[in-house]
Amino acid sequence: DSVIHWFKTDLRCNDNRALALASEKAKEAAVPLICMYIVSPQDFEAHLASPVRVDFILRTLEILKRDLAKLDIPLYIETVERRKQIPDRILELMEQWGSRHLFANMEYEVDELRREANMVHDLAENGKSFEVVHDTCVVPPGQLQSGSGNQYAVYSPWYRSWVAHIHADLDLLELFDSPNKNPGTARKRFKDLFDCAVPEAPSNKQLTKEEKRRFHSMWPAGENAAKERLDKFCEEKIGGYSDNRNIPAEDGTSSLSVHLASGTISSRTCVRTARDRNKTKKLDGGNEGIRVWISEVAWRDFYKHVLVHWPYVCMNKPYKPEYSNIAWSYNEEHFKAWCEGRTGFPIVDAAMRQLNHNGYMHNRCRMIVASFLSKDLLIDWRKGERYFMEHLIDGDFASNNGGWGFSASVGVDPQPYFRIFNPLLQSEKFDPEGVYIRKWVPELQDLDNKEIHDPYGRGAGAKAKKAGYPKPIVNHKDCRDRALNAYKEGIANG
Ligand code: FAD
Repeated sequence: DSVIHWFKTDLRCNDNRALALASEKAKEAAVPLICMYIVSPQDFEAHLASPVRVDFILRTLEILKRDLAKLDIPLYIETVERRKQIPDRILELMEQWGSRHLFANMEYEVDELRREANMVHDLAENGKSFEVVHDTCVVPPGQLQSGSGNQYAVYSPWYRSWVAHIHADLDLLELFDSPNKNPGTARKRFKDLFDCAVPEAPSNKQLTKEEKRRFHSMWPAGENAAKERLDKFCEEKIGGYSDNRNIPAEDGTSSLSVHLASGTISSRTCVRTARDRNKTKKLDGGNEGIRVWISEVAWRDFYKHVLVHWPYVCMNKPYKPEYSNIAWSYNEEHFKAWCEGRTGFPIVDAAMRQLNHNGYMHNRCRMIVASFLSKDLLIDWRKGERYFMEHLIDGDFASNNGGWGFSASVGVDPQPYFRIFNPLLQSEKFDPEGVYIRKWVPELQDLDNKEIHDPYGRGAGAKAKKAGYPKPIVNHKDCRDRALNAYKEGIANG
């Protein structure tokens, strides 16, 4: 006999609920624990996983495999071409390894939820148990309800309830132990599983040599790297977080999103570690930086709860159905200029170039470029949502969909549609000295702090033109009026 843990987006040994439960079960039954990960190229496609994200996952698997091997636990990795075949293949493997118990952490995207509900049933019919448990959120979805018994669709009351719920049940911040060592015999018995290699990325998800060099030094993989990053952030930056988090030129945020998205660290560990550094045990008190950072990690929970309560957001539908009828523009040239960072709006271009180069973009800039695409260019927000997933190393369906819904005013608790970011004012406010712009748009290096936000409007057109920087592709004021009308009309017809 044996017990299996199935890794998905929880690629860590520490504080992993399903893994800890699987390990306990194995210990109790005095049988070995086997871990497995299924690579599904079709899943990568369906989830629009970017090559840099796939590479991060595969690098993490190498590390995880080594860490588990130190505990005599094999991590078996197999490629299954079609995602539909995964449940049957898992059943076959369970038969082959004589396993009666499978454990996994729950994922809340609608396809995964449905697949796993079916698997619980089908495995039971074959005399096997499948325990799928809540782990990825600090507070599992379904626990928080408003006074009238409804699900929250507004963040602030949801957050108050999230905090109160944790204060009332501090066990939610108890961390799970890493797995027990396997009996020594496991090495011999499962030699093949120990020996299996981590596969290469599918051909359409491969990085070039140059990209590998760049991304590997920028984004160290694995759970130790995640923990180091968290500790360093808490040591050096968290105190100043509320002041610095909106300044894209500052390295003022944790950059932990890639780790949270791949599960190389848990949100519980993040909140717990930050809280333990605070002078109060209250999540909503004490040091302002710590308080605000925890409230940002809570946004991640919020958007996952939204998926569970309104699963149609997984199906390309806006949370607000009345926003389904906006007459979007499908101007391919504008879209291409946005993707490539050539719109003539320096802050937008800097941000898009950061994304294309780093696989990451600062949160303030994500809001600026998302607003610019959906309001100034009036391009369907879903095209931007998709482009983000295809390029982000931290691509996470719930947070990305939530962020786009917020910025395009079609999501839960959105920016009201008539509040349209002015890219110039955003630029002056959050990058006053143009440090971020100069880094990513070197053509504008020599412009002064006033000119740099709007070269053609501030008398530096000749300089910008000479440096090859494009003129603005649209006029913000006209676009604003157009967007207001389009949204108004869309809602009226919606
Ligand atoms: P920190 O500021 O250090 O925050 C800590 C953690 O809290 C983050 O790692 C993240 O897990 C969570 N968090 C912070 N802000 C948010 C937020 N607004 N929504 C949800 N979670 C949050 N985040 C992703 O992880 N994946 C995405 O695909 C993604 N797409 C986005 C798209 C748009 C249009 C917008 C506006 C936001 C998006 N975000 C996404 C949220 C946010 O921009 C990133 O989580 C953040 O920039 C990551 O940097 P950090 O780890 O340094 O964050």
